[in-house]
Amino acid sequence: MKLRLLSLYPDQMNIYADRGNIIFFEQRCRWRGIDFEVTRCGTGDTFDPAGFDLIYMGGGQDRDQQIVASDLVETKRESLVRAKEDGAVVLAVCGGYQLLGISYQLADDVIEGLGLVDLKTVREPGPRLIGPVVITVNLDGTDRTIAGFENHGGRTYLGPEAKPFGKVESGHGNNGNDGFEGVREDNLVGTYLHGPLLPKNSWLADHLIKLALEHHHGGTIELDPLDDRFEDAAHETARRVALAG
Ligand code: GLN
Repeated sequence: MKLRLLSLYPDQMNIYADRGNIIFFEQRCRWRGIDFEVTRCGTGDTFDPAGFDLIYMGGGQDRDQQIVASDLVETKRESLVRAKEDGAVVLAVCGGYQLLGISYQLADDVIEGLGLVDLKTVREPGPRLIGPVVITVNLDGTDRTIAGFENHGGRTYLGPEAKPFGKVESGHGNNGNDGFEGVREDNLVGTYLHGPLLPKNSWLADHLIKLALEHHHGGTIELDPLDDRFEDAAHETARRVALAG
């Protein structure tokens, strides 16, 4: 089996070492004898939507988001729409998550997003939303806890068509008001959780690996279990810190 990952703007969209999520995907595949291929896709590059099972974009500062946003819309939107419709997994973190939506407001400017999901990110008076966060998600019929860290100036509001990734238990989430965190639609997940997200939440990494492999190979795929003692301890610490805060 093989997982084909497309890494969008790995040079610009990699704040808080978000590329750690790719390393984590890769290592969990290798431990199970699953081939793993990463293709970098930067400014000006196009990609074949049928060639990838998992598309990843990390977080970025406003400056970097401004650099990639028009390129994203001009050279990659069509392929991203096709890949999403075809069931490829999309995971976008923070700045990458914001760019999945309809628009993103910076200091004095509003930039166009991909419009892949029905959400907008705006600015409001008040401090940046920073700190440890715990959310509850339900992607497979069971409630699960996801723990991480957030740091964003933008406030994201879901439109009527959009469903959140999770419910905030502790922390700010999309905007500090409505109790929602992230967005989820089919196999697409957008979230504010950095840190990187996956080493603290190995269940989520495996869930996305499974969906991506099923996209490539068809059928239902059950992943071999791994020894997750360190991963479980990382999750537990992140969860405890957030709930104590
Ligand atoms: N620049 C965005 C914001 O401040 C996203 C930041 C990030 O990716 N951490 O809202």
